[in-house]
Amino acid sequence: MRCVYCGAEAGNTKDHVPPKCLLRKPYPANLLTVPSCADCNSGFSKDEEYFRLIIVGLLCHTDEAEMLFAGPISRSMDRNTKIEKLMFGALQPVDGGVILDVDYRRVYRIAEKIARGLQSATESGAYPVDQQFVAEFFEVDCDGAGSICGPDFTCRRLADAPTGWEFTLFSSVRFFVQPT
Ligand SMILES: [Zn+2]
Repeated sequence: MRCVYCGAEAGNTKDHVPPKCLLRKPYPANLLTVPSCADCNSGFSKDEEYFRLIIVGLLCHTDEAEMLFAGPISRSMDRNTKIEKLMFGALQPVDGGVILDVDYRRVYRIAEKIARGLQSATESGAYPVDQQFVAEFFEVDCDGAGSICGPDFTCRRLADAPTGWEFTLFSSVRFFVQPT
């Protein structure tokens, strides 16, 4: 099996779509997995943690997101001051308050990775490894329709760009990821 992220032939590990760190336990029984090489699988993990801290920890606002935030994230922050610095390093003091200084490349890298994983599970197969994307995200307040992983993660095709994906985390933050 080829790695859906880099195309290497050694796609002999299973990568979860969406990343498990974005979901609460107990995980859904039918979690999607895609073939991935070991380098890609482990290479995304730090950015997945960053994505979780910024998107779920700071921007999502539902009780379900709070439950994830109050669980493994808090525990890993207690254990790991590096992660704590990473999160609060995103908050830059300015006159009269703080601004959120997000490394968007890391956030979009994970958004595109999720879209690659979703795409590879469809009949049209994986995107080419050199596929470029445009992505954007914004805050929403929705009801979790189209859920594939409880209220934590929902996805569907982009209405006006059927080769792209729309997914929503904790009914709070929505991503559009579209091949260019
Ligand atoms: Zn790979």
